[in-house]
Amino acid sequence: MNKSVYISLGSNMGSKRENLAQAVELISNIPGVKLKNRSSLYETEPWGKTDQDKFLNQVIEIETSLPPRELLKELQDIEINMGRQRKEKWGPRIIDLDILLYGNEVLDDPQLAIPHPRMRERLFVLVPLAEIGADLRFPDNGATVREVLSSVLAREGNRGIERV
Ligand code: ATP
Ligand code: CA
Ligand code: CA
Repeated sequence: MNKSVYISLGSNMGSKRENLAQAVELISNIPGVKLKNRSSLYETEPWGKTDQDKFLNQVIEIETSLPPRELLKELQDIEINMGRQRKEKWGPRIIDLDILLYGNEVLDDPQLAIPHPRMRERLFVLVPLAEIGADLRFPDNGATVREVLSSVLAREGNRGIERV
């Protein structure tokens, strides 16, 4: 059965807009994947490691028959094929593809944790996700994306996230 899956895309090297467009195209061409929806693009400040270029971020929704780990493998192949080099945590990259939500699954494996463990702190994920899925609920605690986004915004303000 097909599951609804949300993927975050980020790029802060080269032609960021083209990188995102190419990644969306490659994802939609994976056998067993159908593109359902895509957010606008957002220009965001780097997170975690702040001495690098701004990011362009987007979230897409797909439907897929691929199990979570097979989907992750496909996404990692796309990252490599697009020329992603460094494995540096939170460093600059041509493309970063993270699985945010996979149906109502909860996985607690360092190789693949779902919901993505840091997504609830990240406006660069929550803002585009809320654009296409504000009423989605987190499978582990039942909170909606809208609620989580509101609480982060109340705490931090919007930190210069700009829709472009
Ligand atoms: P972050 O995970 O904080 O966004 P990152 O994207 O920079 O950091 P990467 O170097 O791209 O981290 O990935 C490190 C590892 O994270 C990958 O090898 C992958 O196995 C693992 N991983 C765990 N959960 C997920 C997930 N939900 N989506 C993508 N990768 C994940
Ligand atoms: Ca990431
Ligand atoms: Ca990643």
